[in-house]
Amino acid sequence: MKQVVAATAITATLILLLSAIAAASPEKTDKFGCHKCTRNCERYDLLKNEYHCHGTANVQSQNIQIAPRIYGNSTYRRVASIIDGDTLTVYYGIGGKKAKVRLLGIDTPEASPKEKAECFSTQATQQLNKLAFNMFVLLKKDKLQRDDKDKYGRLLRYVILFDNTSVNEEMIKGGYAKAYPSLTTTVEQYKKLENEAKEKKLGMWGECGKAKKNDTSQRLFPLKGERYGSHNIN
Ligand SMILES: [Zn+2]
Repeated sequence: MKQVVAATAITATLILLLSAIAAASPEKTDKFGCHKCTRNCERYDLLKNEYHCHGTANVQSQNIQIAPRIYGNSTYRRVASIIDGDTLTVYYGIGGKKAKVRLLGIDTPEASPKEKAECFSTQATQQLNKLAFNMFVLLKKDKLQRDDKDKYGRLLRYVILFDNTSVNEEMIKGGYAKAYPSLTTTVEQYKKLENEAKEKKLGMWGECGKAKKNDTSQRLFPLKGERYGSHNIN
């Protein structure tokens, strides 16, 4: 009986050891837990030879700080810059290369050209900056989307934070973005979120579209005492 117990214990230990080895990446990682991708790269949304890390690597090295991180089966990429309310860049590729990402299913007021910037475009850019800049994000596709990139070559993705927050949703919820009519599984839900933000007059829904008190261009007739062209109104 004792022998059987011992044999079982040894077998269990062996199985544990073997499964631990099998779960690890096939290629060795360096002392920081990072390495270049050699196989199954596509499955992990990595490029061939792309340097990436497994789990948390907190090292003061630029290379490692911008390298994608794999947690579980998901790859998180660091946000490198914010372009406007619905576009950002992430580190993607070899040697600090970046890729532009257009947030799927949303549309924020245009920020450029500067002289024609739409109402609330600055706030939308600031909000995306607050939510996502420098964060590690998961770039998720929609199963209905037809194109991987838009006509400007930007990746069309949902941007998901580590705590599972959808940045795309947050932008609509706060009144920083409208729902963009697109072929996605979220299109109806996003429209609903937009309507909720409208009802609560959040963000642009409270700030934009209403005539400003001191904006004479909205008024058909000048008020008394106001200058109108070269004439003074008495
Ligand atoms: Zn790896």
